[in-house]
Amino acid sequence: MQKKYLLAPGPTPVPPEALLAMAMPIIHHRAPDFVPVLEAAKKGLQWLYQTKNDVLILCSTGTGGMVGAVNNFLNPGDEVIVVNGGKFGERWTKICQAYGVKVEEIVVEWGYAVKPETVEAALKKNPKVKAVFIQANETSTGVYHDIKAVASVVKKTEALFVVDAISALVAHDIRTDEWGIDIMIGGSQKGVMLPPGLAFVSVSDKAWKMGESSKMPKFYFNFKKERENLAKNQTNFTSAVTLIIGLNECVKMLQAEGLDKVFARHERLAKATRAGAAAIGLKLFPKESPSNALTAIEAPAGVDGQAIYKDLRVKYGITGAGGQDKLKGKIFRIAHLGYADTFDVITALAGIEMVLKGLGHPVKLGSGVAAAQEILMK
Ligand code: PLP
Repeated sequence: MQKKYLLAPGPTPVPPEALLAMAMPIIHHRAPDFVPVLEAAKKGLQWLYQTKNDVLILCSTGTGGMVGAVNNFLNPGDEVIVVNGGKFGERWTKICQAYGVKVEEIVVEWGYAVKPETVEAALKKNPKVKAVFIQANETSTGVYHDIKAVASVVKKTEALFVVDAISALVAHDIRTDEWGIDIMIGGSQKGVMLPPGLAFVSVSDKAWKMGESSKMPKFYFNFKKERENLAKNQTNFTSAVTLIIGLNECVKMLQAEGLDKVFARHERLAKATRAGAAAIGLKLFPKESPSNALTAIEAPAGVDGQAIYKDLRVKYGITGAGGQDKLKGKIFRIAHLGYADTFDVITALAGIEMVLKGLGHPVKLGSGVAAAQEILMK
């Protein structure tokens, strides 16, 4: 037998409280029993998003929410700005182009965060821009873009500010209303601690207004219809009843902890992971602004990053993630997201030390663990 540890940046472990709640017999999504369930989910998400806006609940992965954020608000030929600092930034461009939207990309070198001045300059150069798309966490590089600073420049324009917070929600304090985020997308299988299958999308009044003139085709992701149904504590199509029941359980756990403490926990785990990696003699991939949800670590010279990822999983049962695209083999990633605590970090670092030693890389066993312990005990 080998015990498994899921330390990937999604899907993440699901707490037993939610697993148990989701094991209850199914209820019907149009029957009165479901009304309080959806009402609680709606309120819980508004709390988590720090918003008074509607937060739609879609039965899809996060990418479905991203698609809906494009085809419900824009028209073919519209001009938008996409911040592209990795694989998920690239996805915004691909979705926009699939719907005939003209994309001006701000290409950010992988490992760096976008500079708000660059977004400001791009908006000044093209005042016709209808929306600015960005990731909060660029999960492929482990970088967090400064959403507050970028929001403050977009807010001065007519453009919508659209944030993919799929891997950042819960790990970072992102203030939807206070900062002026028009559309923010979340996903169930990350910080929210649920299995894959739900996307969440908050929509501001400014965005609903722009959406009124959107002529793009929409059927499954029809946000206006979702909004009308949400007002009646329903969803447009069959609700993902089980996942929504689980969502209420997870939000209850986060509420019992308190939002500030949730963010502080993620910050503490991230700091300990970074310090542990440094003590092992490893370099972080982000050159600035590392995420609190995951840590992207460079494979040392002469060691294949995919071998580290694979040995962690196969020899020790620890599933992290490798590098994507041009980072494949160069980095590996460890998440500390959602249902994560002190000994997840210790497990990850101990595993990394053992794997590196096993691959012939000189490592002082316990060095990373000790550095992390110092932080985790504070
Ligand atoms: N955006 C970011 C930042 C992500 O981390 C992910 C998933 O890893 C996605 C989008 C895609 O989400 P999904 O696979 O749920 O469609």
